[in-house]
Formats: sequence, structure tokens, C-alpha cells
Amino acid sequence: MDIDAAKAEVLRICAHLHGLGMLAAADGNVSYRLNDQCILITPAGRNKRLIAARDLAVLTLENSIISGSPSSERLMHLKVYATCAEAKVVVHAHPINAIAWSIAKPKLNELPIRSMPEAILGVGAIPIVPYARPGTEALAQGLEKIAPMHKALILARHGALSWGNSAEEAINGMERLEHVAKVLAVAASLGPLSELPEDEINSLLKLRQKMGSRSL
Ligand SMILES: [Zn+2]
Repeated sequence: MDIDAAKAEVLRICAHLHGLGMLAAADGNVSYRLNDQCILITPAGRNKRLIAARDLAVLTLENSIISGSPSSERLMHLKVYATCAEAKVVVHAHPINAIAWSIAKPKLNELPIRSMPEAILGVGAIPIVPYARPGTEALAQGLEKIAPMHKALILARHGALSWGNSAEEAINGMERLEHVAKVLAVAASLGPLSELPEDEINSLLKLRQKMGSRSL
């Protein structure tokens, strides 16, 4: 894909996530791996629904700025590209229900998805990465071990991150995570959460293993 097509793809992802209410004000950032050396990334401090192709920045994988004014949260993106060879697109957004779970249930280290077959089949698990200040090396470090294992994850008190080998996969991860968080929040407001039987959960996990690691 040439750089103009990649820029158009990034803008399309931004518009999609903004339409879903996941990118309020200047929140969130999207990046795209151009080649072995460089990524495209959205600019710092801008509303992602209002940016144009000329606003996108180019950055090396070692965090040297080639052009533009890249997102202040770029270390997180660079960590994913460095640790996940398959990553082509990285998306960071601020989905409401996903964040709310991490605020209301600070001891959780993953969403309680054992009641939802499509969550188990779609992403396997949705971990919650412990809080670190947005934009810091500490937050990027928090992803080092977890991002290679999980393509959709929650950043405590802050947002969520998803990645994939295509725009569609990265978007699927983000949509899946927030949809599951919303269903669980509604269910929890109605009564205690119930789980599927253990053998059914194990069968679903085996099925997921057979299907591969793609976010669905
Ligand atoms: Zn953020």
C-alpha cells in the first residue's frame, strides 16, 4: 500500500471510531506500519474527526520524527510494533464502558467474559493493563508482555488499545471489547453476573485456539 492509501485508511479508521463515540475531543490515536522502518500516526492534540491527510505524522520505529507532530502517546504504538511482528495497524481509543469497568472494579485484571461465548471466541480474553500515566514509557512498558498475547486490551482508567494485521482486525478488536464491556455493565446492573459451565468455556477456548489469533 502506498503512503496516500495508508493515510486514507488511517483517516477512515478515525472517522469510524469517532462515529462510535470512542474518540471525544482530542482523544485517541491511530497508527499504520508503512514499512520496516516507519509508521504513520495521527497528530498530537487534534480532534481525529477533523484532521486531514496532511496532518498525519511519519515516525521511525526508534521514535525519530520524520515529519509532522506525532501523538504524545506514540510510545505505546511503537512498543506494539516492536513486540508484535504481525501488527500493521494500532488503534487507541477511549471507549466509555471499557474505561468504566476499570474505574469501578480496580482489582480486576481482565473483563469477566466467562458468561459470553462470542467474547471468548472473538478475542479469548480482555485483559486490563494496570494504570500508568498516558504518554509515558511506563505505560508502553506495561504493554511489552501483554500485547503479543492479546490484540484487544483495556488501559486502566484511560482507554483501550487494539491491533491487527489490517484495519478491519484492529477495528474488530476495539468494537468487540467495548460491546462486551457494555453488555456486562448492563447485565451487572440487573443482577449478579452468571458464568457458562466450565466444560463449555473450555470447549469455546479450544475452538478459539483452532481458529487462530485473529480478533473477530
Ligand atoms: Zn489516550
